Amino acid sequence: MTIRAGIVGYGNLGRSVEKLVKLQPDMELVGIFSRRTGLDTDTPVLPAERAAEHAGEIDVLFLCLGSATDIPEQAAGYARHFTTVDTYDNHQLIPRHRSEMDAAAREGGHVAMISTGWDPGLFSVNRVLGAALFPQPQQNTFWGKGLSQGHSDAVRRVPGVRRGVQYTIPSEEAIAEARAGRGAEITGASAHVRECYVVADEADHAAITEAITTMPDYFAPYETTVHFISEEEFERDHQGMPHGGHVVTSGDLGGSRSAVEFVLELESNPDFTAAAQVAYGRAAARLKAQGETGARTVLEVAPYLLSPTGLDELIRRDV
Ligand code: NDP
Repeated sequence: MTIRAGIVGYGNLGRSVEKLVKLQPDMELVGIFSRRTGLDTDTPVLPAERAAEHAGEIDVLFLCLGSATDIPEQAAGYARHFTTVDTYDNHQLIPRHRSEMDAAAREGGHVAMISTGWDPGLFSVNRVLGAALFPQPQQNTFWGKGLSQGHSDAVRRVPGVRRGVQYTIPSEEAIAEARAGRGAEITGASAHVRECYVVADEADHAAITEAITTMPDYFAPYETTVHFISEEEFERDHQGMPHGGHVVTSGDLGGSRSAVEFVLELESNPDFTAAAQVAYGRAAARLKAQGETGARTVLEVAPYLLSPTGLDELIRRDV
């Protein structure tokens, strides 16, 4: 079956989903619903407030809205009319989101696939899988190398900084400790180091380094390095949105030790988040076609439903 897809919200994630839906063998993109007009795209753009009028034309709707306010305010409204997939990432509030989306999706007879992406998402699956293998699992999640928007803003506010970015990087030592099963004592500050890349006049370098490395909350408790680079290097090397991380689980298996690790190295966070969202969109459309309704998390979806390849071929090739 060809899955007819729609997108709500055209930010970083929406643009990546648009690009990736077009590359799927079994999907076609019907349109993008936005609160804005005049978007720079060849895909038809439709007003978000009239989305429900297009319910019959779309099998799965990718909610590419912000998690801070858009998803809590709007997602359930879409779930009443469409089978949806979101990347809602406020971990503490996911149980509440699940129950709101479940009620809305059941009301409309749809499936609401929630909190896909990589964390939550693929990391969640790997946390559960890893921990299930050990009677007493030791588990740690590390994030990065990743561009941190909030910390980059803090760097750019330091006087003299013309351009600046900050990457959070997991400490190799802490990852090694986790792999060895000694991760219980690892804290956020001991697990991560911060690297800043700054463009500034040479006369300001010392004062900028001091201001950044001693900045309370943001940098002071962390091992922080400040690199000064040229405008050209900044343009060439620091325009992307990299991210990634590790989920490390280890434990004793009645006398032997084993460790399981899931690693992501992402050149573009939105592209990869979109890749996971699109795969779970395929699963949502298939579950809906099988007559299922209600909200599902990534934990509740069988892996074969994510793949465009048929189950018989997957069993022959990959099991
Ligand atoms: P953006 O801020 O780029 O976009 C969010 C929304 O803001 C869009 O849907 C769009 O809606 C609106 N918007 C975008 N650009 C503009 C603009 N120039 N002016 C006015 N409005 C604009 O967020 P991202 O796409 O980067 O991220 C979306 C969510 O994805 C995040 O909130 C995060 O929670 C989640 N995420 C989840 C991950 C996971 O692993 N689960 C990983 C990474 C992100 P409209 O078109 O209607 O105006």
